Amino acid sequence: MKYLWATGTHVGNVRTGNEDSVFPASSGASSGPEILMVADGMGGAVAGEVASSIAVDTASGKPATDTITPETRVSDANAAVTAAVIKDPSLAGMGTTLTLVKLNDDGRMDVAHVGDSRAYLHRDGQMSLLTTDHTLVHELIELGQITLEEAEVHPHRHLITRVLGLGAVGVDTDTIDLHAGDRVLLCSDGLTTMVSDSDIANILDSVDGVEATVWALIEKANDAGGVDNTTVVVIDTRE
Ligand code: MG
Repeated sequence: MKYLWATGTHVGNVRTGNEDSVFPASSGASSGPEILMVADGMGGAVAGEVASSIAVDTASGKPATDTITPETRVSDANAAVTAAVIKDPSLAGMGTTLTLVKLNDDGRMDVAHVGDSRAYLHRDGQMSLLTTDHTLVHELIELGQITLEEAEVHPHRHLITRVLGLGAVGVDTDTIDLHAGDRVLLCSDGLTTMVSDSDIANILDSVDGVEATVWALIEKANDAGGVDNTTVVVIDTRE
């Protein structure tokens, strides 16, 4: 399998700083293995930026060829963010999401995930969500207590139930067999809170090239208000 990818991050129209982090910083192509990820930090002052960059630096610190599992990369990132808080109490309360994929040379993609950033698979014109949001509203939807529509305007819709940096955390993992022609999207909630799934799918359907697709998605989020930082990774697969 051949993979092509591009990444992009934008501060948006409202925030003064960008608390998201992304890896790698630039676009590329290979037949794998490759590691790519999105992290969305939170916390006062600069703490969110610190949390997401520690997480991404730690999770990408060992080469993609290393036998370390994606789950361990996320767990190591959690330990590193947690340790940074213990070392510098002024960072207390900082945390970050982390959604990481490993592209393997046999076409399998491993996913490891904590928080409310997301991974999507776009195949044959259909887009499906690969990750579960670790949010209060998602749990309320699962319990049947609120609807999807109610979740979108819920006063606590930003409340995250799993985050890196606060001690032990469960990491969701999955493995997907990719097909040639698939597109994979990783994104922070700056995209998904601004742009509907159907609009995201339309862009994945209609825009060619990973770089152009990344920036079409970010532009769409900013056109819709851009109230948060938006970070996007797009991966295309070829025979
Ligand atoms: Mg965000």
